[in-house]
Amino acid sequence: MGPAAVRHERMFIGGDWVDGSGRETMDVVNPTSENAIETVPRGTREDARAALDSAQQAQPGWAELPPLQRAAYMIKIAHLIRENREKLASILTSEQGKPLFESRLEVDGSAAHFEYFAEFARRIEGDVLPSDNPKQTIMILKLPIGVVAAITPWNFPSAMVARKLAPALITGNAVVLKPSSNTPLSAIEMVRLVEQAGVPKGLVNLVTGSGSDVGDELCGSKVTGLVTMTGSTDAGRKIMQRASNQLGKLILELGGKAPFIVWKDADMEWALKCAVWARFWNCGQTCISSERMYLDGSIKAKFLSHFVKMTKELRMGDPMAASTDLGPMVSSSERDTSERFIDFAERAGSKVLLGGGRPTKQPKGWYLEPTVIDGVSQESELVQKEIFGPVVPVLEVETFDEAIDLANDSAYGLASYVFTRDNVNVMKAVHKIRFGETYVNQVGPEQLQGAHTGFRMSGVGAEGSKYGLELYTQLKTCYIDWSDEPGLPYLFPYK
Ligand code: NAD
Repeated sequence: MGPAAVRHERMFIGGDWVDGSGRETMDVVNPTSENAIETVPRGTREDARAALDSAQQAQPGWAELPPLQRAAYMIKIAHLIRENREKLASILTSEQGKPLFESRLEVDGSAAHFEYFAEFARRIEGDVLPSDNPKQTIMILKLPIGVVAAITPWNFPSAMVARKLAPALITGNAVVLKPSSNTPLSAIEMVRLVEQAGVPKGLVNLVTGSGSDVGDELCGSKVTGLVTMTGSTDAGRKIMQRASNQLGKLILELGGKAPFIVWKDADMEWALKCAVWARFWNCGQTCISSERMYLDGSIKAKFLSHFVKMTKELRMGDPMAASTDLGPMVSSSERDTSERFIDFAERAGSKVLLGGGRPTKQPKGWYLEPTVIDGVSQESELVQKEIFGPVVPVLEVETFDEAIDLANDSAYGLASYVFTRDNVNVMKAVHKIRFGETYVNQVGPEQLQGAHTGFRMSGVGAEGSKYGLELYTQLKTCYIDWSDEPGLPYLFPYK
């Protein structure tokens, strides 16, 4: 049987599904079959500008709605996502390659983002403050920013869209969404549900296309009030430079290099299960994936031998099958990058304990064996650079303080993991590990009420939680004089 017919999807601008101003299209390729499954328009700068204009026009009307009415739309979107769970999950797996059970969880999480942020309808609170002057009231308000450019990556093509759309909408903003070119279909399907929920025309727009054209135009435009982007640190840096033209506001959720520390007093069975999940979930393509294991020297050999054994048992295969633990990587280029890390380690004399190549059982698809590498130095690229694939370097430490120091010795500072039952170690981890998230005796998932944020080159700002929500608002202070007779404030120096 030949490949199924390739369908064509469109962009959503000003409330209409359009092909935009260009003629070119981009293939969306299924990483399991390596076949193109759909095409989408290769959007242009002109399309990006048209989407920004639509958003700008629709935003004031949306901002005038009481937040509770905005929340009602969001609850409807959440219902529609839950109703369409199977369809959304299967689109996600077909364009991204994660096992279907993971896609279902991601879709559930997307609905939860809309529900969670809808709960803030009555809690976008400002302040009323006492004044230094008589008969004056000071108010601080949280106003919408205006137009939000939401730029998303391929590794969570559904959840990342929801994590940006939901806080933007409840706070009264309009959105132009640009999904990753690898995985635009989940975003398109979600926007279809946004449309079905009756959200006003022009308020949510979707433009497909490259980061260097469409993304760049969105980030450099004066119409854009906030850029919220999740992706690599390199792209984040470019976006920051581009947005600096108009000192644009930014939320950047970038790369990670999570340390996974296991101390000798940890519950080993549990730590092992968590270590396997933390690295190989989503085929290692998660920003909070464990990317380097630091094992107490006294347990290292035993822990590692169990870890290798458990990893070997992971079932790699068709991500649509219920029995599959590990699907393919998202693209051949991502697999190439991971393979380069493995080559590099081998050439440096490190020892590949497991994996290291392409599985022979899967002649098609961008599969890479789960790979465990021992004998790696802290300075090596494997420990210092983000490996966005199923490859984990292992290091030995002698003291818990050393583990913390090595964990902190990184350009990245997103997630971190510590397994110990010693209270002193736990509190050291809480206070001394300089990462935006520390999981103690636990491996995710993150929760909506937690702030997802990165130290150092892992990002700027935060998402999720009340702190993430606030970044979608603009503070404004009003000084209101309510005296019968206008008079100069007593601090005013001139009479
Ligand atoms: P990427 O940086 O290649 O692309 C992310 C998005 O940015 C895409 O939509 C892309 O088109 C766009 N983009 C790229 N260059 C741009 C530019 N110059 N201007 C405007 N937009 C531009 O990232 P990716 O490969 O899709 O995703 C993987 C990366 O994302 C990893 O580094 C991972 O750690 C990171 N990530 C971080 C988080 C987090 O919350 N911190 C979550 C998921 C993924």
